Amino acid sequence: MSDQASSILDVLRYELSELGVTVICDAFIQGITRADGKFCVELAEGKVYRGDRVILATGGKAMPASGSDGNGYELASRLGHRITDVFPALVQLMLEGSFFKRIEGVKLAGTAEVIHRNKSVARDRGDILFANYGVSGPPILQISRVAGELLKQGEEVYLKINIMDTMSKEELLDLLKRRFQTGPSKPVDFSLVGLINKRLIPVVLKEAGIDDLTRPVANLSAAEKQGITDILTDWRFKVRGTKGWSSAQVTAGGVDTGDIDPNSMESRLIKGLFFAGQIMDIDGQCGGFNLQWAWTSGYIAGKNAAL
Ligand SMILES: Cc1cc2nc3c(=O)[nH]c(=O)nc-3n(C[C@H](O)[C@H](O)[C@H](O)COP(=O)(O)OP(=O)(O)OC[C@H]3O[C@@H](n4cnc5c(N)ncnc54)[C@H](O)[C@@H]3O)c2cc1C
Repeated sequence: MSDQASSILDVLRYELSELGVTVICDAFIQGITRADGKFCVELAEGKVYRGDRVILATGGKAMPASGSDGNGYELASRLGHRITDVFPALVQLMLEGSFFKRIEGVKLAGTAEVIHRNKSVARDRGDILFANYGVSGPPILQISRVAGELLKQGEEVYLKINIMDTMSKEELLDLLKRRFQTGPSKPVDFSLVGLINKRLIPVVLKEAGIDDLTRPVANLSAAEKQGITDILTDWRFKVRGTKGWSSAQVTAGGVDTGDIDPNSMESRLIKGLFFAGQIMDIDGQCGGFNLQWAWTSGYIAGKNAAL
């Protein structure tokens, strides 16, 4: 209820201190080995800690500035663990098109879909935000994993945006026709003012094949009206990539869960080695699922490591 992330850190630190746990910060672990039944955890400056149990919770690769730059995969892999392909998830999409600079910052409530081989493979609704590279916003982040995975496989991926998703195509065409009939001499660009964000109007009309934006609407052909309707309800963009690790909130892929006991989070390969959080090949959608996973798996790993 406090809406402060630091509250979580405070209560965790309080419990650690109550339990007399030693906390060592600013310590980069560069190697973990096993010798004489003990783990040796080696710090970058050469110091070595020995212990009976190790919990690897180094995070994934998303937002490396936060410290989780993927080096944990190397630690796990050197201990024999398989790492599945990793790619950024909950991330913005970069789209093909030369007009994004002009509509950067435009926000609208609509539906976004990932289209692969002419089929919709992921869909979400909410606030979509245009940026100079493409699109952002909650629905884009939600569907980005599917797009990212297909792109990684070398597939062609398209994004479909419906910016008038509260009505059907037919209803929108009717609405446009009525608007155009009421003011037949209005320039086509002005006739859309009030219906969609003003900055989108010239781009939408150009995309619909209407170059002269000052033409009176009475002169629009049936095909041109249909063209405007199509862009407003089914605007297609080729996806050229995801924004990458520095902007991603989550990592898809990671330590293969087949080698981890789900009841204890213990490695099936090395007794006494446990995993928690993003380092594992588990990721969720927006909505707190990733933090929940980090805490739940951390709790299970902690309980079992302490047995
Ligand atoms: C901008 C952003 C917004 C997000 N918003 C949400 C949200 O609203 N809801 C949600 O559920 N999830 C959200 N997430 C995802 C969520 O933060 C992560 O899934 C979660 O923090 C993963 O926890 P973790 O403990 O596994 O890893 P991390 O939180 O990444 O922690 C790993 C730690 O290990 C340290 N480390 C790495 N390697 C070493 C090493 N060799 N030696 C020593 N230390 C090392 C790192 O410095 C880091 O401190 C967001 C992520 C980002 C980037």
